[in-house]
Amino acid sequence: MAKNSLHCSFCGRSRDEVKILIAGQEGHICENCVEHAQEIIQQELIVREDATPNSQFKLTVKKPIEIKRFLDEYVIGQDDAKKVLAVAVYNHYKRLQQKVADNDVEIEKSNIIMVGETGTGKTLLAKTIAKLLNVPFAIVDATVFTEAGYVGEDVESILTRLLQVCNYDVVSAERGIVYIDEIDKIARKGDNPSITRDVSGEGVQQGLLKLLEGTDVLVPPQGGRKHPEQKLIKINTQNILFICGGAFDGVDKIIARRINTNSIGFNVNKELQDFTRKNLLQHINAPDLKSFGLIPELLGRLPVVTHLNPLDSVTLRSILTEPKNSLIRQYKRLFELEGIQLSIDNDVLEFMVEKAVEYKLGARGLRSICESILTDAMFELPSSKENKFHLDLEYARKKFDTSKMSLLKVA
Ligand code: ADP
Repeated sequence: MAKNSLHCSFCGRSRDEVKILIAGQEGHICENCVEHAQEIIQQELIVREDATPNSQFKLTVKKPIEIKRFLDEYVIGQDDAKKVLAVAVYNHYKRLQQKVADNDVEIEKSNIIMVGETGTGKTLLAKTIAKLLNVPFAIVDATVFTEAGYVGEDVESILTRLLQVCNYDVVSAERGIVYIDEIDKIARKGDNPSITRDVSGEGVQQGLLKLLEGTDVLVPPQGGRKHPEQKLIKINTQNILFICGGAFDGVDKIIARRINTNSIGFNVNKELQDFTRKNLLQHINAPDLKSFGLIPELLGRLPVVTHLNPLDSVTLRSILTEPKNSLIRQYKRLFELEGIQLSIDNDVLEFMVEKAVEYKLGARGLRSICESILTDAMFELPSSKENKFHLDLEYARKKFDTSKMSLLKVA
């Protein structure tokens, strides 16, 4: 004991070891224990609130055709992915509604993996489905996770996000949808099981296994690393649908190699060869993803594999105007709120698409292109008396050419 006999009655630290020691009637408490007590109180309150789940999320199950139709309103093209997703999601929630008594045939979870270049609509598809079904939806990035014990986030924090989205309503969270982006970035390097430790790749894949399959997980309510004094929330992941997405750069070569060895004559017809190369992703299967570096155990828990097509200029043109909340509709609405009627010439839309293709920016780039063309107008018009704004090609070209974006051009 220190020379001074005063000590914290909770942790036993002596007066010399702490900064503040608060006296009570029969004991003392130090600043560390006050802090811990505060954390415990906060977490306890959060858990209590779970007892009264809010009714914000009421699952509305739709038939696959209805799901696809809804997706069509927001996402252009990608018919294969839409169909596969619609069926998988429908089956997942049908499974969820199955009564426990008749579970002699146990329907397994249909977690999904989507392969497609960045900006082709993977996140948008997952988000739109969650909106339709009215279930909590969280997006997480696989690259932030590291194996437990290393710097980075534990995989359990995926569930923290889901909980936060539905305001810690555990019941709703337990049938939510989680979209794990960039799953390809945690591929192990090479097709061989690693001999050295692979902290951010294979280790994370291992960590994900139990989550994807369905188990009770203790989740830190505020995310971050678990620590011993923390109150944890128990979540069962059995009915959470996991949708993973990734670009899997280079997987086309793996598919090509497989197809090449399987089909004699693939090399004969140059035209056919080019065509097939462009559409190689449509042949993707689990063994290709294994060759890319996903471990078989993980693939086993992601039984539904689908692909998204790269966006050509026709699709980009449709993306500008057709979806329910298309970019052009959004801008028109923004102007309308200002009392200004925005009209845009067709050749301006073609110009935007042309630039998105030229700058290799895909659908995500359309937004920046629109901004670079319309920012000046959006800056000046609210202070003017105009009630109409007509966007023609000459104006669009001038604004784009003088914008920062025009410097971005890739070789
Ligand atoms: P990723 O495949 O990288 O997840 P996103 O779904 O985030 O791509 O797409 C980025 C943005 O591009 C979306 O918010 C959407 O505005 C647009 N977009 C991409 N693909 C499509 C599509 N097929 N239909 C409609 N919009 C799309």
